[in-house]
This record gives sequence, C-alpha cells and structure tokens, in this order.
Amino acid sequence: MSAYPCLEFDLPKLRHNLLELSKRCNAAGIRLAGAVKGVQSQPTLVREYLPYCDQLALSRLSQAKMLRQAGITADLLMLRLPMPSEIPDLVALAQYSLNSQFRVIQQIEEECTRQNKRHKVILMADEGDLREGYWDKAQLTQDAVRIERQMHAVSLAGVGVNLGCYGSVLPSRENLGDLVQIAREIEQRIGRKLEIVSGGATTSLHLMLTGAMPEGINHLRVGEAIMNARDLHDRRGMNTDFLDPHVVTLKAEVVEVFSKPSHPVGEIDLDAFGHKRAYLDRGIRRRALLALGRQDLGYLEDLRPRLPGIQILGGSSDHLILDIEDSQEEWYPGKIVCFDLDYGTLMFATNSSDISIRYLE
Ligand SMILES: *Cc1c(COP(=O)(O)O)cnc(C)c1O
Repeated sequence: MSAYPCLEFDLPKLRHNLLELSKRCNAAGIRLAGAVKGVQSQPTLVREYLPYCDQLALSRLSQAKMLRQAGITADLLMLRLPMPSEIPDLVALAQYSLNSQFRVIQQIEEECTRQNKRHKVILMADEGDLREGYWDKAQLTQDAVRIERQMHAVSLAGVGVNLGCYGSVLPSRENLGDLVQIAREIEQRIGRKLEIVSGGATTSLHLMLTGAMPEGINHLRVGEAIMNARDLHDRRGMNTDFLDPHVVTLKAEVVEVFSKPSHPVGEIDLDAFGHKRAYLDRGIRRRALLALGRQDLGYLEDLRPRLPGIQILGGSSDHLILDIEDSQEEWYPGKIVCFDLDYGTLMFATNSSDISIRYLE
C-alpha cells in the first residue's frame, strides 16, 4: 500500500479532547456515549474513549463484531434503529439500542429469551427533525409503560432525541425540555427513575457549554466534537478553545505543478460526473495536482488546507486540483500537503481502502 494519501490520528490530542469534554459534561451532570461511527470504530481510537465514556456508540453491527474481536468489552449503544433481520447479532453484541417501534422491541425480547441475554432500549422521541422517533408522544409513553410491565429480558433504559441531522433543527430549551417532560411522565407512570435521558449529539453541546441545558438531560451521544472540534467553531460559532482542532490530519502528495489558464479551453460540456460546472476566468494561475480523489473522499471541496493561500478548485475520481498562485510555499512533485477534515470527509476517508492510517502515540 502506498504511504500517501494517509490519515494521521494524534492520540494525545484525542485524549485531551476526551478529557476536557468529559470534565464539562460531568460538571453538568451529563454522561457521555462516545460516538465512534464517523471513524469506522477503529479499535486503536476506540480504546482512548474507554476511560471517559459510559458507552461506545456505533451504527453498524459489523463494527461491533470487530470491537469484540479486538477484545473491547465496553457497553455498546447502537445508534441506528435495528433492522429486524439483525436482531440476533444486536442481542449478541450490544447492550443498548435506540428504538421507536414496539413490534421490533418485542422481537428483541424474544431473541433475548432465546439467547438468555438482556438488552436495554432507549425510546426515541421525534422533536421535529423528522428522522427517527415517535411523533405521537402519548404512544411513546404508553409503549414505555408496556415495556416496563410486560417484558423481562428487555428493559427500558430511558428516552432520547436526535436533532440537527435530516431536518437541520437546532436543539433548544423547548425541544429538549419537552423530552425531559416525557421522561418525567414515564417515571411517574412506572414508579422509578429512568437511567438515561439522552439529549442528542454534538449539536446539543452548545446548550450545555452555555449553561442552558434543561435540567434532567443526563446523557449525550457525542462524536463530531471530539474528532472535528473545528466544525463546532466554524459552522455553529461555538467557543471551542478547550478542544484541539487538529486530532486528524489528511496528507496527500503533489503529482504535478504548472501554471495554466484558470478557464478551460474548448467547448464546455459536462465534467467527469455529468455535472454542468461554472469556471471563473482569473487568467493564468499556478496550480498543483494531488493524488487524492472522489473515490477516496466524495466531497473534496469540503477539505480545508492547513497552509494559507491555497484554494481547492475541484477534482475528479483520482485527483484534487489546488490553486496555489497566492501560496508562499515552494511547490514540487512529491510535496506533502496537509488538510483538516470535517465530519463528512472524515467518514469517507476512514472508509477508503486507499488511504492509509497512522497513529501518533
Ligand atoms: C451519529 C449519531 C450521533 C453522534 O453525532 P455527532 O454529530 O457525531 O456527535 C448521535 N446520535 C445518533 C442517533 C447518531 O446517529
């Protein structure tokens, strides 16, 4: 395998972010599930999360299997609603799952009995983001009570919400307060406290960090903030000075450096992916071609060059094209260029068989 492109994970920086974030969560009475799905649950990374998290949160049971084979015994929380066809593996591998369909939870109960296992469910409320979760909150409460009264191997761990994914809805005192209300009503009906009231993901940290988290939220499932702290700052204007933004670095190699026209020459049709594109004519400019493409990353334009004076012009399956006219650096084939990644590009990159992975101890 080639040395480049490669992803470098700085483990001391990762530990720093886990420590600083978990300190703040604990001070706010919030327990952490470490969402590791965005980095394909790599065991070397996952091991760093263990001292700071109650559960590891993932979305694919193949990754759960891999973690067990790597000897990791921590509680696993499955973030995607279970496919009925994967319930045997779910029960065998994971202690917690997010759920919204009573008939699926009944199937989990039956499978638990078959395997002589126990499993904890978190019922999801849809507070407007319109992905998973009960829209009808009376039905949620009723199903929670039925789980408590009728089931033996499945237990009700609590309730949760997901926001800011499909519907781009921001967590607020109102929607998270509503979740706490649902939890209180269930607790009153079943006569005990719920273990988990899970108020969302990275996007909910803003409320916690500004002291505005509704009382009663005691759990968050956080991935992005730990690996890609910069997203919070750049996209949500959050003060994240206590987090290191450079846990991950993508390194790619230059294969050509030339000055060329900035506007294509000839009759303009479609690009390699069938899209009509616009090109700005800025005259002759210096550009660098890198060996990294959409096969590796998908959204090449979302990469963020670390060096100043570089602009991403675009790319194709195997190439990334940079405008380097304003860069003060020396450019030559073989030069290694460093990039920051966001949530999407990191997810693609960790899934690419042609990007090697290195860990800085
Ligand atoms: C991915 C995911 C998370 C973690 O999201 P981040 O933005 O990485 O913090 C939490 N909950 C659910 C249901 C998810 O799918």
